[in-house]
Amino acid sequence: MDFRDSPEEAEFRTRLRDWLTEQKGKFPTSGDEYWAAQGAWHQALYQAGFFGTSWPEEYGGQDLPPVYDVIVDEEIAKAGAPARPSLGYLVVGLSHHGSEELRQRFLPGMINGTERWCQGFSEPGAGSDLASLTTTATREGDEYVIHGHKIWTSYSDVADWCLLLARTDKDVAKHKGISAFIVPMHQDGIEQRPLKMISGVTKEFGQVLFDGARVPAANMVGAPGEGWKLAMTVVSHEREPSTLGFSARYGKLVRQLATRVGPAPEELAWAWVQTEMLRLHVRRRLSEQLDGLTHGPQGSLDKLLMTWTEQSVGHAALATVGTGDEELFGAYMYSRAQSVMGGTSQIQKNIIAQRILGLGS
Ligand SMILES: Cc1cc2nc3c(=O)[nH]c(=O)nc-3n(C[C@H](O)[C@H](O)[C@H](O)COP(=O)(O)OP(=O)(O)OC[C@H]3O[C@@H](n4cnc5c(N)ncnc54)[C@H](O)[C@@H]3O)c2cc1C
Repeated sequence: MDFRDSPEEAEFRTRLRDWLTEQKGKFPTSGDEYWAAQGAWHQALYQAGFFGTSWPEEYGGQDLPPVYDVIVDEEIAKAGAPARPSLGYLVVGLSHHGSEELRQRFLPGMINGTERWCQGFSEPGAGSDLASLTTTATREGDEYVIHGHKIWTSYSDVADWCLLLARTDKDVAKHKGISAFIVPMHQDGIEQRPLKMISGVTKEFGQVLFDGARVPAANMVGAPGEGWKLAMTVVSHEREPSTLGFSARYGKLVRQLATRVGPAPEELAWAWVQTEMLRLHVRRRLSEQLDGLTHGPQGSLDKLLMTWTEQSVGHAALATVGTGDEELFGAYMYSRAQSVMGGTSQIQKNIIAQRILGLGS
């Protein structure tokens, strides 16, 4: 495959580059300030034509090939602009499993950023073993009533809607009794409790307690008991580095570190190798995607590679500048989360062993 820009891609890149130059300094790039302004950044990107480019036109996207997302990520990283908000996995989850009515109602606001979303899957007792979740949704007339406790819910405090997994049937195998809902977050019966990350950030995620919150039955995504299928679609897309667009950001960090040292520490050389490996891997996945190939358990390989890369960049930052630079030290600390979010590294290895290598039962 030829990875050089086509004339249309080159024109898009130039337009984006110019726009990013105009935006310089307007939006914060890290810490709580980034999270507080993330919604405004999302809308600014969208309105300028640089967000959701590869999603369907009928829901507010532009139906462009996924390579345009890569161009956006590359140019954002080069410009030192804030990261592109990542919600592709929610768009894919709703597109694959939601009725046309739900897609028409919810995808445009999700894509253009006028409605904010969170993903309510994990619970204090159900992370890796997600099928053990105990949040319940009980039918009462045309509504379901929710009780339970979600945790690590990214953007929960600013979310208008939550894609929630809850148990609707206790009498069947545990993964068959789960349903998915689109729950309005601004209502009585929902309590938010913030969580502070090791990096000091308090606005990235929180705990959400549901005590009698209500959701219209019409907001169920898929049929009763089909929530597990949606969950698997969402998590497998959450694991794709091309969807997340991290590759360009790692490369930028490594280059930034290289300008800070004389003789490069071994950690920096290794981070450089890993970053380059991930960049080429993402390109290969992209070209497979353009050929119409979809990935199942291979997403776990991608997630592991992405985790190793981010953590090697984090180690390089620590070895190069120590704890003295707030932003780079923050990058090291944030890298610790990569082997947990979207499914831990151990779980990815289990999936690779069982579903790709055919090991175990
Ligand atoms: C930054 C960040 C953002 C997040 N955002 C969201 C979000 O928006 N919505 C959401 O629902 N969740 C979110 N999560 C939660 C994330 O999905 C869970 O943390 C993750 O699935 C792990 O679950 P856990 O924390 O309960 O750990 P546990 O499942 O309790 O795991 C603890 C340890 O045991 C190991 N382990 C568990 N089971 C096995 C096994 N079978 N084999 C081998 N080892 C095993 C794990 O690998 C891990 O090392 C987020 C997490 C982070 C860090």
